[in-house]
Amino acid sequence: MSEQRTYIVLLGVPGAGKGTQAKLLEQALGLPQISTGDIFRYNLKHETELGKLAKSYMDRGDLVPDEVTIRMVEERLQQPDCARGAIMDGFPRNLVQAAAFDKMTAPYGGVKVAPLIQVDDEETIRRITGRRTCRTCGAVYHILYNPPKVAGVCDIDGGELYQREDDKEETVRNRLYVYYKQTAPLIGYYFAKGLLREIDGTQSIEEVQNALIAVIREAQPA
Ligand code: ADP
Ligand code: ADP
Repeated sequence: MSEQRTYIVLLGVPGAGKGTQAKLLEQALGLPQISTGDIFRYNLKHETELGKLAKSYMDRGDLVPDEVTIRMVEERLQQPDCARGAIMDGFPRNLVQAAAFDKMTAPYGGVKVAPLIQVDDEETIRRITGRRTCRTCGAVYHILYNPPKVAGVCDIDGGELYQREDDKEETVRNRLYVYYKQTAPLIGYYFAKGLLREIDGTQSIEEVQNALIAVIREAQPA
């Protein structure tokens, strides 16, 4: 049998706290966060071919086509920092991507656990509309719930905090629609495999983190 790796799939509506938690888990578990949204935003900023392709989809709040996204993740997983596994944040996002991810990870034992961070729609909207993101390092803040020490400035690298174009209300509505239509079916998909773990995402950032670490440790005994 080939080596086992730890692949964790974070599920949850946009704004649930996946990115915030993935960044903390990265430190706690020593596994890299793979955020397809962050990779697309990096490409957008640097005006790469991939960025140009992704832009119109992201501006509308639609999913970037599967072939492009799947290939991008496949390449990312081959980087040396992914040799022990990865924390997936925003991928897979529909059933086609989930099947492709199963195939990619099958030689290493497949997905270990799929925690679902649950928050209701009202809280989601409050979180997304107050979200601010660092232009340089991608760190995520909230103007009320998780403010930076100095307004508008990233605690980590001093970068400028901005509101993502797709965090404005019109696009948010479409992103929620896309989530329920395309991404929510993954809940049943991972439940059927016995991998789904529900986490109350309305708790504090620290409490959610502790709950996540508990379900991950349970799935992956030391
Ligand atoms: P959020 O953190 O609010 O859930 P993301 O940063 O994950 O948002 O995604 C932002 C946008 O990037 C999405 O609306 C979509 O256009 C694109 N995107 C991110 N991940 C994927 C994916 N797995 N498949 C297709 N498109 C994606
Ligand atoms: P996602 O990646 O699922 O779209 P984010 O991690 O970007 O979500 O979080 C969305 C917003 O909610 C951010 O502004 C973040 O600071 C805030 N947030 C995340 N987790 C919590 C929490 N447990 N309580 C309050 N606000 C939170």
